[in-house]
Amino acid sequence: MNTVNITSTLAEAQRIRQDLKTKYDADVGKCYQCGKCSAGCPVAFAMDTPPHKVIQLAKLGLYDEMMECHSTWLCATCHTCSARCPREVHPSRIMEGLRIEARNQGSVKVRPLDIFHTKFMKLVGKRGRVYEMALMLGYNLSVGRPLKDAGFAPKMILNKKLSLFPHTTSKARKEVRKIHERYNRMSNTPHPDQTSGGDTP
Ligand code: SF4
Ligand code: SF4
Repeated sequence: MNTVNITSTLAEAQRIRQDLKTKYDADVGKCYQCGKCSAGCPVAFAMDTPPHKVIQLAKLGLYDEMMECHSTWLCATCHTCSARCPREVHPSRIMEGLRIEARNQGSVKVRPLDIFHTKFMKLVGKRGRVYEMALMLGYNLSVGRPLKDAGFAPKMILNKKLSLFPHTTSKARKEVRKIHERYNRMSNTPHPDQTSGGDTP
């Protein structure tokens, strides 16, 4: 049977709560586990730990278990959970915060998801919107499976769901750039213009 050190767990719970509050303006202490966040999450079906359970792990001070959840890397940052939460806990901010923490610590458990996330953010930061073909090719090359899902490409191109060329740069590029710069400050990542390489990640 595992032994639980109540004192250190409580201290850890307080530390995690304060940390998430200060850095990400999200208070796990207010959560009363109604589960509305998980019920509305469009990707909860694929998660190992649904959002309300991730919040509960934080509340209990179970740091390692919280950081090991794959769910944080499946989260699409759609903010449905935050919109539905009756206690304004902001689970989506916590999900994003956990990704940033894991990357800052170099402790990302699901490497392909981190590669996808990094390439996606790099493309959006550079152009104001994603260039899907570059994302797909760059990701496939990085994970050593250059032809992964390539069979879907012709149909997607024919149906205009995938373009061979980048979209015109977003009109909101400046605003997106500001958001991206803020994200980079939090995650200690340089802006894509400061790194080598063009659109192909
Ligand atoms: S919706 Fe809010 S209060 Fe309910 S479980 Fe999720 S985070 Fe907690
Ligand atoms: S922000 Fe993430 S956790 Fe919240 S509902 Fe959307 S996908 Fe689910």
